[in-house]
Parts: sequence; structure tokens; C-alpha cells
Amino acid sequence: MSRVYNFSAGPAMLPEEVLKEAAAEMLDYQGSGQSVMEMSHRSKVYDQIIKEAEADLRELMNIPDNYKVLFLQGGASQFFAEVPMNMMKNKKAGYIITGQWAKKAYQEAKIYGEAVELASSADKTFSYIPDCSDLPITDDMDYVYICENNTIYGTKFQQLPNTKGKVLVSDISSCFLSEPVDVTKYGVIYGGVQKNVGPAGAVIAIIREDLIPDECLPGTPTMLKWKTQAENDSLYNTPPCYTIYICGKVFKWLLKNGGLEAMKQKNIEKAKILYDFLDQSKLFKGTVVKEDRSLMNVPFVTGNEELDAKFVKEATAAGLVNLKGHRSVGGMRASIYNAMPIEGVKALVDFMAKFEAENA
Ligand SMILES: *Cc1c(COP(=O)(O)O)cnc(C)c1O
Repeated sequence: MSRVYNFSAGPAMLPEEVLKEAAAEMLDYQGSGQSVMEMSHRSKVYDQIIKEAEADLRELMNIPDNYKVLFLQGGASQFFAEVPMNMMKNKKAGYIITGQWAKKAYQEAKIYGEAVELASSADKTFSYIPDCSDLPITDDMDYVYICENNTIYGTKFQQLPNTKGKVLVSDISSCFLSEPVDVTKYGVIYGGVQKNVGPAGAVIAIIREDLIPDECLPGTPTMLKWKTQAENDSLYNTPPCYTIYICGKVFKWLLKNGGLEAMKQKNIEKAKILYDFLDQSKLFKGTVVKEDRSLMNVPFVTGNEELDAKFVKEATAAGLVNLKGHRSVGGMRASIYNAMPIEGVKALVDFMAKFEAENA
């Protein structure tokens, strides 16, 4: 068996230790005689799995008691609609457009009400985070929405926007659990787990209880009402059982390895290796302004499409896979989430140096 360094933006690498544990428990989960895949979600054994996952996540993120933790389906993309369905009382909200995912959320909100573009970095292919210190936020807006880490473009909000007292909703799909967060600064934080947390199939939403409405917009399906999910502890219907189980294992792996502060230090160290190389390279160039760089997704280019393609091909042959950039940016993108070991980043930089020497 030989495993590659997988730089995919998602689904992405998982800690090897977690995969090995899951493999060992595949046929018989802790003496139950069953795989977690085969279990009733109403069983005692499974109830303990989901309860422990929630408790561990609460500990990791220091989630206050007045926030609900929901395990949902439909991906982050379904949640784009759930936000306005559950939150648009005045049918008006502000969106900061920092990339394709923010834009999709904005477009989805327009189906339900008035979505206002508060700021955008579309003018420079989303290579920076716009100034959000004094946005045209009006009193009648129900919330302000951001995509905190822009997976495709490699930018991250280093500072949260001034929402002028409005509730902040944040998509943290690609920076989930990458560093500590102050949950109290948000009304709703959510993300698809397949980037930095677990396998595809679940969205985790952390929602302040007073924002879970009794009434949603007319026509909201039962499943998409946060109240339904909250009242049933994410077990209204069959949840993505196996995905939640693996997420739970990742939470335990994070707790064992020092929690989110330790993870942040490790992520800073990893990203620095790659950015330092890019900053001195004569061939490769990062595409994002320095002060808004993401620790998780690092896009870069050579400036020559043929050379980019050659790089991706040769890197793949060397066991460094999924480095092709998103089609809207071109070039390359290295996603270096929590589970990417520092050795993987070093291997990538060594390979880039070799490629640069050979193609000078
Ligand atoms: C991947 C991604 C999404 C879309 O996730 P799905 O689960 O595929 O719907 C949304 N937002 C961000 C920031 C992402 O990285």
C-alpha cells in the first residue's frame, strides 16, 4: 500500500490514524457485532456516537450553551437556502461577495428576498478581502453573510466585518476547526464537513438558539426548518450516520493533539513553508494579496498554462495529487488542511524547487 499526499480542496485528506481506527472497527464496532454503517440511528450505541461527537465539538470550539449544534444534510449548498428561509423575517439581508461560494449563497438568497451586495472583490478575481469596516448596512437587514475562507481563491477574513449590530452568518466550510474561533461573535456558523472535518455527507451548523424561528418563510420544507432539526437533536430522520461517526473520530484526534490552538500553530507553520517558497520563486507566484492569505487553500501559477499543466502532471506522477487549480482561477491550488502532514508540504516545496530548476 502506498498513500499519496492529496492536496484536494474536498473531499480531502483525513488523518491516517482515524482511517485505521475506522478500518479496525469496520466489521464489529466495539463489541456490537455490527459496522456503524449497519446500525439503527435510534440504537443506544449510535446515540452515544452522535452525543459524544457533539460534546467533543463543543469542547473543541468552546461552544456556549445557548448555541445548538446541528448535523444536517444537503451540503453547504442546501444551507445557502436554509439561511434565508429561517432568517429572512424582513426579507432583506446583506452579503459580502468574496468568491464563488459567497456569490452562490447570495444568488440563492435572492430567491427568497432582497439580498444586498455590501462589498465585493470581483474586480480583481477575488484575490483580496474588501474593506468591511463601514459597510452600507441598513437597519432592516436580518443578517450579514460572509464566506470566511474562500476555498477557490485562497483568501480569508483576518478580521470579521463590522456588522453594525446585525447578526453575522458565516460559511466556514474550508476553515472549520483549523484554528480557534470566538463563537459568540456569530449568530450562525456552518460548514460542509468534507473539506477539513470528515467525509462528505454532512453539514454542521452552530446556531444561536434565539435565531431558530418558530415560523419560517411560507413553503419551507419540514426538513429545512432549523426548529425541526433542533427539537429532534438532528435525528428527525436518518442522519448521515457514518459521516458523523468519522467526524467524531476526527474531533477526538484534534483533542488528543492539543485542540485548535495547537492546530493553528501547525497550520501557520505549514502554510509558511509554502508561502515563503512562493515569495522567493522566480517561476511560481501566489495569486492572493499577502495580508489576506488563507492557511488552508494556496493557489499559485507559473503564468504559463502549458507549464502549469506540465507541473500538475509531473507532480501527480511523484505522488503529489489534486494540485490542479479551480477552473475559474487556473494554475494550481494546494489545499493543506489539518490532516496534511508537514512532510507533505515539504515534499511539495522540494518538488516545486526541482521543477523550477529543470524549467528555468
Ligand atoms: C465546498 C464549499 C461549499 C459547497 O459545499 P457542498 O457541501 O458541496 O455544497 C460551500 N462553501 C464553501 C466555502 C466551500 O468550500
